[in-house]
Order: sequence, then structure tokens, then C-alpha cells
Amino acid sequence: MSPADGVMIAPVDDRWDASAGEGDALDQVLAASRLLGSDRSLANFGGGNTSAKGTATDHAGRDVRVMWVKGSGSDLATMERRHFTGLRLDEILPLIERHEMSDEEMVAYLARCQLDPTMPRCSIETLLHAFVPAEHVHHTHPDGINVLAGTRDGEALVRECFGDRAAWSPYIRPGFTLARQVGLAVRENPALEAVILAKHGLVVWGDTAQEAYRRTVAIVNEAIAFTNARVGGAARFGGPAGTPLSDDQAAELLADVLPALRGAVSSERAKVLVVDRAPAVVEFVSSRDAPELVGVGAPCPDHLVHTKRVPLWVPFDPARDDAAALAERIRELVPAYRDEYRAYVALHADADTVPADPDPRVVLIQNVGLVGVGTSPRAAALSRDLYHRAVEVIAGADAMGGFVSLTDAESFAIEYWPLELYKLSLAPPPGELQGTVALVTGGAGGIGRATMAAMAGMGACVVGLDLDADGAREAVAAYGDAGLGLACDVTSEDAVRDAYRQAVARFGGVDIVVSNAGVASSAPLQETTLDEWQRNYAVLGTGYFLVAREAFRTMIAQATGGSIVFVASKNAVVAGRNAAAYSSAKAAELHLARCLAEEGGPHGIRVNTVNPDAVLQGSRIWGSSWRRERADAYGIEPDQLEEHYRKRTTLGVNILPDDIAQAVVHFASPARSGKSTGNMLNVDGGVPAAYAR
Ligand SMILES: [Zn+2]
Repeated sequence: MSPADGVMIAPVDDRWDASAGEGDALDQVLAASRLLGSDRSLANFGGGNTSAKGTATDHAGRDVRVMWVKGSGSDLATMERRHFTGLRLDEILPLIERHEMSDEEMVAYLARCQLDPTMPRCSIETLLHAFVPAEHVHHTHPDGINVLAGTRDGEALVRECFGDRAAWSPYIRPGFTLARQVGLAVRENPALEAVILAKHGLVVWGDTAQEAYRRTVAIVNEAIAFTNARVGGAARFGGPAGTPLSDDQAAELLADVLPALRGAVSSERAKVLVVDRAPAVVEFVSSRDAPELVGVGAPCPDHLVHTKRVPLWVPFDPARDDAAALAERIRELVPAYRDEYRAYVALHADADTVPADPDPRVVLIQNVGLVGVGTSPRAAALSRDLYHRAVEVIAGADAMGGFVSLTDAESFAIEYWPLELYKLSLAPPPGELQGTVALVTGGAGGIGRATMAAMAGMGACVVGLDLDADGAREAVAAYGDAGLGLACDVTSEDAVRDAYRQAVARFGGVDIVVSNAGVASSAPLQETTLDEWQRNYAVLGTGYFLVAREAFRTMIAQATGGSIVFVASKNAVVAGRNAAAYSSAKAAELHLARCLAEEGGPHGIRVNTVNPDAVLQGSRIWGSSWRRERADAYGIEPDQLEEHYRKRTTLGVNILPDDIAQAVVHFASPARSGKSTGNMLNVDGGVPAAYAR
């Protein structure tokens, strides 16, 4: 949120409440950690760390001096006791006598100081906490401090703001040397209240967690008041240069542009996009100074692995450019960004460097907004959130005399630092469909749900479409921000187009389309009504056409291929008695898939068909009159159908929704079937009449 007029940067609240001080030292630091993390302008996601010193009983029953410190890879906002690591303080403190210690040696040493080897690896900044002689130490990356820490004359400004109460520490990468410098500065100056780390953040301490927390808030607010007193009335980022698009205009434009952007930033792996039009972001991307400021670098080392050194800046003038021109520009600028990133890596890499994915993680479209990029909605949102912090710091630092960032070499040393990469290694490994977006029609039914569950489990985002809006939303509820449930009548051209627009607005595009919405009716031909006939053809013919046509449009704009899977039926190839409307419409569906395979090939779009037979479990069709009609056709009771179908298969099995889902996954995944198109896979337990010939 953009601060109020006359304010460059908004002050932070003191959120301490009395109950937070209860419990042991670990409870106290836990409470303070969560409060710090609850305000992202104080502690960004995953950033900052806290500690408490005290005594504990070790495995042998001895009382030992201990320091509890945040474990690597956890986030202050959601810490639990188990996320802290307990270390034997008496084994750590003598290290301050040393003059140097490598990262590897430090990590190995600290691992042997843990009270319990099963505790998480301790924070990179552990020694800093140990060397500061206070019971509670809080290290954060607050916007208000990083404005000063990231301004060209930061050191002089800090001195002017805090006098001798704060020490300035020139930028060096966290590790033994920084920890020792900070520790010695605090030990040598008992009157000191804070240390400000250039281009990085803040260190504050106290006798209690409450004192350290409140001092953090007070120091940050002092810096903010200092900044606002000096430049509070100034225009942020040099003031506006253009008129930003309205929300409606932006939505209209992005619906046409996001698939092209998504395709462009999915060079090595599929990405999802998160669009952000927060007022402060729109203000920034529409400002006079933004084109220059975006190239300066990250305002805090902690952002780098999630935002990269710089965002991709895409010029856009609404008066001159249309969506097609913008998409074209994006297709040119993204490869250029990758080339520049690869050159930066090559310049600083050593023999052991494994280059990271070269695609941008933050894309800024002038006069429009920000797009976060990641292999999951969460990762994309994290890039977005960290860039919100960057926008605030850049605003203040620009006004205070010029925003400065880490040099390229300093950035690389953080981005490719093994200790930083270790944090990333704690995340679960990517799934086979990681970063892809799968749209499934008939999403509320048994096969639709099973298919979405299988693909979500493999890392895909899923969009469930169904006539039943509540059913569709409920079917994706378990997938959180990676699921979207929408009402959609696949026979309506407008509804299908709108559903794709919503999927694109949410995730940036679509890679996998499972056309599964179904309907069925059974009657002898002479009793088949025109309504029944037309309904079968509307859903199974027209509906599959409309869903596939929109898939083609989106996938061709992405230019990364795609997979369309039609869920047809054994009846597409076997003449079903008393089901002429259904069976012939299914045959049309099957042949449509083969025609589309021919058209899709040059675009890398594969189109295949799965033919289930008699999947009764969870099916909405089988809950309707179809069950009674089929039972009548076979001269049996409706509850005998499962047994009837099982017996007539070669394998003697019933077909379940998950059996179909596995076949769909086979065709959805390029790793499994990337060279198959126009194909058909029967999942029917073996029905000789359906054998391909
Ligand atoms: Zn830090």
C-alpha cells in the first residue's frame, strides 16, 4: 500500500501484548519472532533471525548454557519451538578469539555444538547472535532501515539519525567475519543500541524478548521519522510519468498478453504467474524514475534467490502500444534477459557453479503492474512479496539521495552461496508436472476429481470446471492457491471463453486440458427424442470443440506446446445398443481428437483420447436415470450393474476413477507420452469389441 500523502514510508506498529512474555526463554523468543514476521515491512518471508540465551539440561542431565537460534529455512511468522536449534554457548563463544573461519568450517563446528543432532541446521547468522552479549538478539531486514542502509550516503545518514547509538557495518556477506565485527562493536560500545548493516538490515538486542522487539520497532520508526522529515513531501520515484491503466483495462490487456509472457518465461521449466496491481506497485511502474531504478539491484541479499538481481522491465505506452505489440516485445525481451543473466553467471562462476534457471522471477510492465514468476503459485507470490519490500526501500533511498545495491559480484556471491542454496534444498523436490496448469471439465465428478488429484499431486495447478459451481470449488478446495473451481457450461461459447480467461488471470495460461464433461442417455432409437439427441451432441460434440478451440488459442499464444486429453468412452468404438445418440456423439468426439492431433502437431499440441468403460464410482452420470436405463437394457436390477460390468471384462475387474486418472496423466505428461498424439487408450478391463484394429 502506498503511504499517505506527505509520508515517504509508513511507520510500523508495536504489536507486543502482555501474554507474549510468558513461558521460558524459548517461548519468549518464539512470541517475538512471530510478531516480527507478522509485519512484512519488518521481516520479509524467510528473512531475519532471532535468538535467546539461557540454560537447558543436556542429554546427560547436565545444566548447560544454551543459545536458541532460528533454524535455517524457517519463517519468523510461522515459527514453532521445533524450528529453533539449541547450541552449547560455551563451545561457541571462544570462537570470537579467532580471526577467520570459513563457511564450511563454521557450519561443521556449529553442527557439533547442537544439543540434539536432529535439530534443524542453525541460521547462517548464528555466530552474530552468539557474539552479541545480550540475552535476546533480533536481526531483521526492515524497509525503514534498508532505506538508509541502501542510500548512497547511508553511513552519514545513519550517524545523523542515531548519533553514537547505532554502529554502521560496511557490506560484507554474512558469515564469521561479519558476526565478529558486529560482536566486537557491541562489546566495545556498551551504549550502543543497534548495528546497521549496509545494504542488508538491522541488529538489535535486549535483556528480554520484549525489550529486543520493542527496540527493533523503535529504531525502525526513528529511521522512518528521519526519512519522512527529510523527504516526506517529495514525490516517490520522481513522480508519475504516465497514466496507469485502470483495473478493467489492465485485466483486458493481460488476458491477451499473459500466455505469451508465461510461455516466454518457461524456458527450462513451466512457470505460473501471479499478477499484482497493488497501489504502490502501480505507482512505481508508472513513475518517471522506474526505468532506471529497476536496474540498480536488490535492496537486501535475502531477496536475491527469489527475485534475481534485477526484474525484467517491459516498456509499455498505452497510447501507442496494443496487446499484440506488448506480447511481441515480451517475446524479444525475455530471451535478452536470459542472455544477460547467463553472462552474469559466466562472469562470476567457478568450476562448481550450477547455473540457476535463467528466467526472470519478477516482471514489471510499465503503466500496468507486476507479474511474479515461479514454479508454484507460492513461489511466484514470494517473488511478488519480496519485490513489494524492494519498492518501499527504493522509494525511500531514491528520495534520500540515491538507491544503491549490492554489486554484481556481491549479488552473485549471495545468489550462488552454498549456505543460501541449502535453504532452497529443504523444499520438496519438484513434481513431474511442476509449474504446469491443467484445466479439467466435469471437475466435480468422479473422474474429474481423481484426475485433478493425480495432477495436483505431481505439482500441477488445477482448474476444475463444472456446471455445478459449488461442486467445482469443493473439488479443488484441498489444493489451496494451486486450485481454481469455476462454473462452466461447456456448450456455451461465452462461458468457455470466460473460464479460460479466469484460468489465465489466475495462473497465466494452460498446458493440459482434460475434456471430460459428460452426459449420457439410453433409449431405443425410435424412442430417442430430438432433445436427447441434441443434448448428447451439444455436450460431447460442440462442448469438446469449444473447450479444445480455446485450448488451442491459449497454447499457441504460449508457444510451449500442450496436451489435450479427451475422455471418451468404449462406446466411441463399440456400437452400443439402445444408446445411438450417446455412442455416435462419443465417436464424433474421438474423431475430433484425431483431427485436432493433426492440426496441433505443428504447434507441439498433442491430442489423445482415453476410453473408459462403466466407471460408476463417484459418477454423476451413473447417479442419474442412465443407471436405470442401462440396467433395463441388460434386464437386471440397477444395483447389479457393477457385478455385470466386472464379469463382462476380460480381466474381470471394475474400472475406478483413479484408473482413468492414471491414463489421463500418461497423456498429460510430456515425460511419459511426449511423442504420442492422435492415440487412444482403452481403460475398460479388456473388452474385445473395443480392441484397436
Ligand atoms: Zn540478514
